[in-house]
Amino acid sequence: MENPKLIPMVDLKKELEILKPIIISDIAEVLDSGTYILGKKGEQFEKRLADYVGTTCAVGVANGTDALYLALKALDIKPGDEVITTPFTFFATGEAIAQVGAKPVFVDIDEESYNIDPTKIEEVVSPKTKAIIVVHLFGRVAKMNEILRIAQAWKIKVIEDACQAIGTEYEGRRAGAIGDIGCFSFFPSKSLGAFGDAGAVVTNNQDLYEKVCELRNHGSTTKYAHESIGINSRLDEIQAAILLTKLNYLDIFLHKRKEIARRYTEQLHREVKAPPIVETREHTFHQYCIKVDRREELAVYLKNKGISSAVYYPIPLHLQEAFHYLHYKGGDFPIAEKTAKHILALPISPELSIEQQNKIIAAVRTFFKTGREEPTEA
Ligand SMILES: *Cc1c(COP(=O)(O)O)cnc(C)c1O
Repeated sequence: MENPKLIPMVDLKKELEILKPIIISDIAEVLDSGTYILGKKGEQFEKRLADYVGTTCAVGVANGTDALYLALKALDIKPGDEVITTPFTFFATGEAIAQVGAKPVFVDIDEESYNIDPTKIEEVVSPKTKAIIVVHLFGRVAKMNEILRIAQAWKIKVIEDACQAIGTEYEGRRAGAIGDIGCFSFFPSKSLGAFGDAGAVVTNNQDLYEKVCELRNHGSTTKYAHESIGINSRLDEIQAAILLTKLNYLDIFLHKRKEIARRYTEQLHREVKAPPIVETREHTFHQYCIKVDRREELAVYLKNKGISSAVYYPIPLHLQEAFHYLHYKGGDFPIAEKTAKHILALPISPELSIEQQNKIIAAVRTFFKTGREEPTEA
């Protein structure tokens, strides 16, 4: 059983305690409305999300993975096409490319930001390259100016996997609104989380918008008339209602994340490789990740002190068994591989208290001061 006193990575229960009365009334409203899929709440959420992100349109879908799949489909990416992306991301980014029958082509990451390294993209562009999926990992925006310049020069589309980066800003624009089409996940632990699976696609392009609307609903815009082969990937009304409410709190939540990140970096930058804190919202700290030697030892040490930590991600995509058929091998993307061995995420969520954070900071410092793991009690 999970240790109940362990400081969790994200404290969803604590968040629910605060929002429960509003959430319950949101759910009750949907139940009473008698419309559970593709109704008013979904439409309202799509409008509010588009406003928040700064696009003309948004489409609610069932999850972030489907958002990526639908974005690729709407862009007509198909077998024979290549899509460039990072090997250092959640599996779904590469999975969606394979789901549409295209070939994922990986490019190593930048050591500091953990995002795709734009200086290495042009080495793999080919006549088959149709798109690039940029991931704003951990909430930090990728180097979009360089990426957009390359995309324009080679006429390739830019999909933003903004699943970890809602509210992240870059030169006056928000993540998801910078490329051709943006994808969000509202998985419960994301910065904006539903109480179940949910996702969205955002774009300024009316044609892409209409295609995603059609594809998420069995390729249909008129009931029982189907123009294309789509999927069933609609956002349900209960999740939409919850997201509408939680979107009101998002900026406060992101501000809290930033404050927590600032304290971590101020207190730990001598002991570990800590992310830099800037005053802009270029990083919204969906995760707070440090880089350390002796990571497994540190994780065990923290656990013994009642502190969770997590590794995002231990296996880069090019070394995943599912992508064996792409014939990549160890050593192909040395920075991603090295990062996967040294990175460690510390608990961060708007609900993390100062006392909890102090305990985490003290534990990390003590670990590096003593220089080795304390013997655990038998
Ligand atoms: C969470 C996540 C996804 C997938 O979202 P789901 O809603 O879980 O399908 C895709 N890409 C990244 C980077 C993610 O963090």
